Amino acid sequence: MSIAENIAAIRERIDAAARETGRTGADITLVGASKMNDAAACREAIAAGIDVLGENRVQEMTAKLADNAYEGRPLHFIGHLQRNKVRQVVGKVDLIESVGSEALLREIEKEAAKQGLVQDILLEVNIGGEEAKSGFAPEQMYEAAALAKTLEHVRVRGLMTIPPVEKSAGENMVYFRKVHALYVDINEKIYDNKMEYVSMGMSGDFEDAIRAGSNMVRVGTAIFGQRYYAN
Ligand SMILES: *Cc1c(COP(=O)(O)O)cnc(C)c1O
Repeated sequence: MSIAENIAAIRERIDAAARETGRTGADITLVGASKMNDAAACREAIAAGIDVLGENRVQEMTAKLADNAYEGRPLHFIGHLQRNKVRQVVGKVDLIESVGSEALLREIEKEAAKQGLVQDILLEVNIGGEEAKSGFAPEQMYEAAALAKTLEHVRVRGLMTIPPVEKSAGENMVYFRKVHALYVDINEKIYDNKMEYVSMGMSGDFEDAIRAGSNMVRVGTAIFGQRYYAN
């Protein structure tokens, strides 16, 4: 299967899941998680109509940016972002999806102010409470959202989550529902319903995420094929 065929098949599945909730595929943003795939693969995905490309490693993204890998589509940063790499990401991407600590939030504000721009971000919630994962604890989300609102050079566009790895299909539905509920409540109470995105769902579970209200899915393997990590 080619990248274009994979994207077409995923679009159909996205559309079917969206229709179960009274929406269509047009309401869902498909982010191609292109880590470990080269600029040619990114261009192929763009030619096949991917909405957005998402990267999670700063060094790889910087190299692919220099190679014009993302031309014609928005770029999101979706990975764990270290504070000392913020300078290489702010102003380079349309959306930083993975802002999961107050320290990172303040660092992005500082860098965006320095560059004289407003950086769009999502707040990442660690919904499974996993120690190894970044993200705000669910109970910290209101405070984080309220803080972010006071910062002049960041604009919160929504929430993002990476739930625990599923042991069986459907297991993450409970987490997706919790994040969607948080999104709706924070949007209403803190953001005058101006947030737009709830980013959740990956290759193995994007249909469930959509059923729970996701409108942004980040799909890697199902588009680009298996990634091979050197060990
Ligand atoms: C790699 C990655 C994805 C996509 O994962 P797949 O299981 O390959 O679809 C989604 N979100 C983030 C943050 C990622 O790093």
